[in-house]
Amino acid sequence: MNAEILAVGSELLLGQITNTNAQYLSKQLAEIGIDVYVHTVVGDNEARLAQSIELAANRADLVILTGGLGPTKDDLTKETVAAFCGRGLVHDKEALSSIEAYFEKRQRPMSPNNRKQALVIEGSTVLTNHTGMAPGMFLETDKCKLVLMPGPPKELQPMFEIELKPLLLDGSGTAITSRVLRYYGIGESQLETDLEDLIDAQTNPTIAPLAGNSEVKLRLTVKHTDENEAIRLLDETEELIQKRVGEFFYGYGEIGLMEQVTLHLKEAGLTVSAAESFTGGLFTVGLTSFKGSSSIFYGGISAYSTHVKENVLHVSKETIKQSGVVSESCAREMASAVRKMFSTDIGVSFTGVAGPDPQEGKEPGTVYIAIVGPDNTETVYPLLLSGSRQAIRERAVKYCCFYLLT
Ligand code: ATP
Ligand code: MG
Repeated sequence: MNAEILAVGSELLLGQITNTNAQYLSKQLAEIGIDVYVHTVVGDNEARLAQSIELAANRADLVILTGGLGPTKDDLTKETVAAFCGRGLVHDKEALSSIEAYFEKRQRPMSPNNRKQALVIEGSTVLTNHTGMAPGMFLETDKCKLVLMPGPPKELQPMFEIELKPLLLDGSGTAITSRVLRYYGIGESQLETDLEDLIDAQTNPTIAPLAGNSEVKLRLTVKHTDENEAIRLLDETEELIQKRVGEFFYGYGEIGLMEQVTLHLKEAGLTVSAAESFTGGLFTVGLTSFKGSSSIFYGGISAYSTHVKENVLHVSKETIKQSGVVSESCAREMASAVRKMFSTDIGVSFTGVAGPDPQEGKEPGTVYIAIVGPDNTETVYPLLLSGSRQAIRERAVKYCCFYLLT
């Protein structure tokens, strides 16, 4: 099945709003295996809208229209589609009573315009609007399936999820199962390049890279008629993916790095403390932002100046003189000291150059993260990070979380 999305609204053409409905619908349709061939935007003009409907209906199996279902004069989608199909408009009882209830509750008079919102195209399946007034519609014509949905995304999205998706999947006995894989330390474009042939060849499950917050995710989506079969297919594809990029993998689902660390330490029954130089407490802030973090995080020291490193954390004079504070040995001594001071299983430390200027002759982005573990195991991770001062600090914190997880 292939689809077209026809977004209606002069605001879109004037550049006042972005066509996020088309983006949302395209993503959703891809996940259920419906190919979207064309996006169209047309203004609130009856003749041009009629033309666009005609064109789309003649070449697509499914045409989804968004916008123009409201009560005002410029909302003409329903009337134009009805005319195209040669059908009339009838009042939908349920929609009408929910609109009446809306006005009654607010003790506001209902205008005839609002009654108009309860009009639906004859013979259509009504899609309930769970977050607004204008109902959506699904109808089959001899040319194609037509769907009408309201413009506001907060109305359209639940309507798609709750009302339309089941209809599109109906009869096929097909269900959808997704799995999200999370990565850190690899950019989205690198991940895509590494998996390019898999992404292109893979049709069930499909593999979709998703970026955000400097963490990248892959969503695997499988269409199936049997849950066990779905899991087998997802496992198989995940194995292929992890063979290539598994070293950057840290977890599943919707839980980000910081929260994942909290959960991981809780499960392992481990406690942590932090000595932070150039991150100035970012790790501490991050780890304490989740409920129940007191059971895993004991505290931190923001050891920004050399004086504090030397006199509070007792970093040796020798280290400072020979290697500087941006060094592997300084990081190790800081982590070790904070771990002892706070009596935690793990001590972590951050020292580095956030920039923009070099320090101790070391380039901005030079970072050392040390993790001293339960049996005094010491690991220092040297990194060379790029980006702004803030980006370097945030990335360092996330890298530390990644190391704590893997
Ligand atoms: P209403 O009942 O609010 O009038 P409607 O179904 O008639 O809804 P429009 O009047 O076309 O829809 O648009 C209403 C609002 O919905 C717009 O001001 C805009 O904020 C949002 N909207 C409309 N179309 C889109 C779109 N394609 N992408 C994102 N947002 C949209
Ligand atoms: Mg409107």
